[in-house]
Amino acid sequence: MNYHNKERQLRVDLAAAFRILHRLDMHESVANHLSAAVSDDGRTFLMNRRWMHFCNVTASNLQLLDVDDESILQRDDAPDISAWNIHRNIHRAYPGARVVLHAHPTYATALSTLKDPRLLPIDNNTARFYERIAYDTNFGGIANSEEEGERIAESLQGKPVLMMGNHGVTVVGETVAEAFEDLYYLEKACKTMILVYSAGQPLNILSDELAREIVRGWDDFRGASFAHFEQLKAELDATDPSYLN
Ligand SMILES: [Zn+2]
Repeated sequence: MNYHNKERQLRVDLAAAFRILHRLDMHESVANHLSAAVSDDGRTFLMNRRWMHFCNVTASNLQLLDVDDESILQRDDAPDISAWNIHRNIHRAYPGARVVLHAHPTYATALSTLKDPRLLPIDNNTARFYERIAYDTNFGGIANSEEEGERIAESLQGKPVLMMGNHGVTVVGETVAEAFEDLYYLEKACKTMILVYSAGQPLNILSDELAREIVRGWDDFRGASFAHFEQLKAELDATDPSYLN
């Protein structure tokens, strides 16, 4: 596969992720951003344009950005400044974080606002994230500053999920399908967590050993991430293939 085809496939998959998250009601007005590294060193990446609604993102209107090119901020097509600060700093700090999804889904964001925002291992979905989440409880407001972007990137500490206290979540992954699957299950797991808290009864928390075993079980299930994403893309193809444009 030559470089051009690789970038085209990345554009298609990332555009599909926007459309699917919109259908799942995991979008936020014209805010929130998804990005994917194009170059192997992670220094060029694709991201949605400033104030582009998820439902209008297409493969070709994703913007190609360079982490070293700050002159983009002076141009008419400058990206959203908070998105630039968050995504640029994560791609710069972690070349291995190929895909970076930042969102404010209802249940994950609700959990992030608790004094104890930990996602506890109480079923298969919550245990999927056992020891895979970094917690940032030093929210500094909308990431309008370079410092807040750097602080968020540092907070990840190499984990695939960052629970951003009083803010939302960021998920990183090797592929769009895998990062999407983590975000999808994270929101489901956080919904479970919020619902069980509302029950007001003691939680039956799984042992560390069992939680780790479940994480290994999910590893064996890796292929399902791609199957799920392909089937959701097939639904887009059948109902609204405009994301391919
Ligand atoms: Zn945000």
